[in-house]
Amino acid sequence: MYPTRFNYESPKSIAEAIALLHQGGGEAKILAGGQSLVPMMRLRFAAPEMIVDINNIPGLDYLTVDADGTIHIGALCRHSDLEKSSLLMAHQPTMAAAAPVIADPIVRNRGTLVGSLCHADPQGDWSSVMMALGGIVVAQGPNGRRSIPAADFVKGPFQNMLAFDEIAIEAIVPAPKGIPNGGYLKLERRVGDFATAGVAVAVESSQGLIIRAGIGLTGVGGSTINATAAAQSLVGAPLTAGSIAHAADLAAQAAQPRSDHRGSASYKRQIVKTFVVRILSGVVESMERAA
Ligand SMILES: Cc1cc2nc3c(=O)[nH]c(=O)nc-3n(C[C@H](O)[C@H](O)[C@H](O)COP(=O)(O)OP(=O)(O)OC[C@H]3O[C@@H](n4cnc5c(N)ncnc54)[C@H](O)[C@@H]3O)c2cc1C
Repeated sequence: MYPTRFNYESPKSIAEAIALLHQGGGEAKILAGGQSLVPMMRLRFAAPEMIVDINNIPGLDYLTVDADGTIHIGALCRHSDLEKSSLLMAHQPTMAAAAPVIADPIVRNRGTLVGSLCHADPQGDWSSVMMALGGIVVAQGPNGRRSIPAADFVKGPFQNMLAFDEIAIEAIVPAPKGIPNGGYLKLERRVGDFATAGVAVAVESSQGLIIRAGIGLTGVGGSTINATAAAQSLVGAPLTAGSIAHAADLAAQAAQPRSDHRGSASYKRQIVKTFVVRILSGVVESMERAA
């Protein structure tokens, strides 16, 4: 199927892009990597009157780490930039684990992390990763910039908290207060597929104790799930077999999976539990190696 007719705009600055979105009055859409928007348009699930292609705005493709460890991911930083980043390998294990399992290499070459957050697909991998990390989305509109926690950014399936004339400029992972650790595991039917279930775990430790934890769940609910009770249960104590099993149980309880062609609800819940145990057991091993 072909998309409906639309006007194509290619602004050269953020201000110009915001003005175009404002002019579009809710009928304009940003094009970043196009890996979700174009398929949606071809299937006519989306029929914007105007496409605002941000790919010719200079300076949005950055991936930087501040001296304190804060990570900034610009709106045009591609999945493949994250996959190849030695900065992430060194500083952010949860993101480093997720980047290579997003879709396939062709999609990763064009698609962006920020676009993925904006798309708010319950099966999108980056939303759960950013939730686990306590990430932030920086939005810019006619009235300036504002920061939205990743945990609040997803309003529902395929819905985000941006106003119609706002652009997500960057995603930020706040500086860790302890040693960052964690991982991302995803069960897919075949390489390149969306998640049957995925689990993102991010912890920070100091002197053997967990001082911060986040757990995000992919593909096991109507939108990405922030398993806060499971994450909180880990804080203030060392990781033990008992605390890991308890957190895994709480994460499985937080999941709201539905039975479908990818598997039954109880199977998906079991995957969540198994993945939390696997990731946290890996964290224990790496903490023991580092000690
Ligand atoms: C075959 C295939 C397999 C895939 N598999 C996976 C997978 O396994 N896991 C996964 O997570 N994703 C998967 N994806 C989706 C992919 O990750 C997309 O790249 C991502 O969802 C959207 O990023 P994008 O830059 O391509 O955004 P686009 O497609 O350009 O935009 C998506 C939506 O976000 C909005 N948007 C984009 N950027 C901004 C911005 N800066 N500010 C405001 N709004 C914005 C657009 O208007 C649009 O509504 C797959 C896609 C394909 C085609």
